[in-house]
Amino acid sequence: MNDLSCIVSNFFEKVNLQEFAQSALQPLPDDRLASRGIRAEVLRIDRLHPQISGNKWLKLKYNLMEAARQGKRRLLTFGGAYSNHLYATAAAGKLLGFETIGIVRGERVEPLNSTLRFAEEAGMQLHFVSRADYRQKHSSAFIEHLHALFGDFFLVPEGGSNVHAVPGCMELPGEWSAAYDYILLPCGTGGTLAGLALAAAAHQKLIGVSVLKGGAFLYEEVKRLQEAYAGHHTQNFEIWTDYAHRGYAKTTEALRLFMQDWQRQYPSVPIEHVYSAKMFYAFFAEVEKGYFPSGSRVLLIHTGGLRVEHE
Ligand SMILES: *Cc1c(COP(=O)(O)O)cnc(C)c1O
Repeated sequence: MNDLSCIVSNFFEKVNLQEFAQSALQPLPDDRLASRGIRAEVLRIDRLHPQISGNKWLKLKYNLMEAARQGKRRLLTFGGAYSNHLYATAAAGKLLGFETIGIVRGERVEPLNSTLRFAEEAGMQLHFVSRADYRQKHSSAFIEHLHALFGDFFLVPEGGSNVHAVPGCMELPGEWSAAYDYILLPCGTGGTLAGLALAAAAHQKLIGVSVLKGGAFLYEEVKRLQEAYAGHHTQNFEIWTDYAHRGYAKTTEALRLFMQDWQRQYPSVPIEHVYSAKMFYAFFAEVEKGYFPSGSRVLLIHTGGLRVEHE
């Protein structure tokens, strides 16, 4: 192993995910659940790391190991202006000694928002591209153009979701999670769901709540990632596409009210409107509709997205 590989693996291996998970479960006492015979717990992987939060930690683990193995000290990745992935990648780069380049969708707007300001202050070089160019992010011509601009780099796709994202997510389920019948999580690119579904126990059903409008594409995306990593895909997951609340990072009056009630009822479980609120909203909506049979045990994964804002 080279020096960088040692640094990266020491950083990730010092966390025992199985032990962490057991210590990060929080019950969700709620009359709406008790009256229907449902038990639910929240898994706070948002607490995995203050900056490399939640599922981004899981997805970056083997991406960074692979970059280091290939001897690449420069990471290039993609995201929108509010991307948790850009934030986490910038933080990981600073902490572990990678140069980072962020290709950001849209124009640079001053002052930078807190996500981009944090990324830039962590040393990430921000490169803004038009929405039209951003859509070319998978084309080899565009990637060649980026190589001409930035030289050699290890490419991590948007959201960190690629074949290397899958094994990190597979490490989360274990004996501790065997008691759950349903596992819910918010879904953006499907990378996290792909790994969790591959590692789930046979009796478990995974449910990804799409936070994007038109989330039906996620079925194919999850299967594609599973096949890329494992050579097969699983049938144990569903995507809920009706809870995007007008689209990515958007909200509705109903979601706003839900969040207000939530903050009153569960002050110790902070949520935000892009990911976690949409998952919890979807969960309670489906409880009301009778989706979960009496006796169900449900695990809700709090994937992160909370920020300690920097002034
Ligand atoms: C990025 C992100 C997601 C989406 O994960 P995917 O693997 O892209 O589906 C979910 N929750 C939070 C908090 C995120 O930051």
